[in-house]
Amino acid sequence: MAKTKKKIKVIRIDMDKCSGCRACEAICSAFHASPKYSSNNPARARIRLVRDPFEEIFLPVYAGEYTAAECMGRDKYVVEGKEYGECDFCRASCPSRDAFKEPDSGLPLKCDMCEDDPPQEEPLCVKWCLLDALTYEEREEEVEEEVKLDDLETGLESLVDNYGLQKVIDTVARITQKG
Ligand code: SF4
Ligand code: SF4
Repeated sequence: MAKTKKKIKVIRIDMDKCSGCRACEAICSAFHASPKYSSNNPARARIRLVRDPFEEIFLPVYAGEYTAAECMGRDKYVVEGKEYGECDFCRASCPSRDAFKEPDSGLPLKCDMCEDDPPQEEPLCVKWCLLDALTYEEREEEVEEEVKLDDLETGLESLVDNYGLQKVIDTVARITQKG
């Protein structure tokens, strides 16, 4: 496969600095509302906070790839004496939990690094994190060319996984006939 240069965008997370204020969830959901900034619902955010104030656990995790199957094994993590749940560090939108799913449709949500036109100076969750628990980095790497799925393709993939290809085709055909 051909190699190409790719800009890698990274959000570095410093759990020790996070206060659990959830400003990152609020701005992410507002930015992705339609129309933009018309509503604020953290359940629609592409970053979520694993939060347990009694244990002083504040862990921001941003949404990664959609996966059709949940993993078979689970891990527990102990970091600086605090125990984290089996799926706490996982970024996947997966069948075993509600995280990173559009609450109405159930379609997967994925962080798009606040893609915008013109581009944002930095991701909005980073900008709104006043405690610098989130910081933004870019670097270039040589990678194999990949086919990048956009939100629509990811959503369609999950619909096909859930309902089967023929049902999706039949439904689209019915809807377009109505129009
Ligand atoms: S905005 Fe920053 S401090 Fe607040 S919850 Fe998000 S990561 Fe933590
Ligand atoms: S980078 Fe943008 S899309 Fe990704 S979690 Fe942060 S605010 Fe949401």
